[in-house]
Amino acid sequence: MSLLTHAQGIEQMLADIRTEALYTRDLIGRDAFGARVMSALAKVPREQFVPEALRAAAFDDGPLPIGHGQTISQPYIVALMTDLLATQADHRVLEIGTGSGYQTAVLSLLCRQVYSMDLIPDLTRTAAARLTRLGYHNAELRSGNGYAGWPEHAPYDGIIVTAAATHIPPALVDQLRPGGNLVIPVGPPYLSQDLKVVHKDDHGSVTTRSMLGVAFVPLVDHEQIG
Ligand code: SAH
Repeated sequence: MSLLTHAQGIEQMLADIRTEALYTRDLIGRDAFGARVMSALAKVPREQFVPEALRAAAFDDGPLPIGHGQTISQPYIVALMTDLLATQADHRVLEIGTGSGYQTAVLSLLCRQVYSMDLIPDLTRTAAARLTRLGYHNAELRSGNGYAGWPEHAPYDGIIVTAAATHIPPALVDQLRPGGNLVIPVGPPYLSQDLKVVHKDDHGSVTTRSMLGVAFVPLVDHEQIG
């Protein structure tokens, strides 16, 4: 990326996301992502969310390490999960797995309020300072085990989990507002998981759709809670 300007880097990233969406259209049930989602991705300075030594790769369409054995997700996956969440400007959403805070920043441009949790206090602290410095003021972060959700602010209009769960955490379904979506990778840790969309209809009935195979770091220790 060193030879690209910031604007060229973003343009390259958006072009890769568009291409990947077309490649996967049969799996994801759409051939492009919504204009609101793409414009949020265009605005968030991704290079600020990766370690300084990796800035040259910030706009590549792949995950990058962020320390503590964790990763910032691939831009296409961020776009897809955000699109599946179907956010609206007045929504209050919950994210489990803050990591670098990149997905949090994207959501904060699309929603009224974002709540985000991470198990690792150091990542929560760093992401909170970064989001404040960059002017994302409608995101509240806390450290804790996201398997149990964040009941104090429930119900949420949407919930996104950016770590792989072996099963759908019941507390997250409970904390979802009727009409809302829970987007979550489900499957064995480190192997391929299914990206799932759990929809709660207006009467509270829940249906689950599987989209495509993904590979996320595990949702840690989640069976010990709840
Ligand atoms: N959304 C992030 C990527 C997250 S990587 C980004 O945009 O950068 C997955 C994150 O989930 C890691 O930071 C990890 O610490 C966190 N995590 C793992 N298990 C968790 C749990 N049980 N509760 C909350 N966070 C968890």
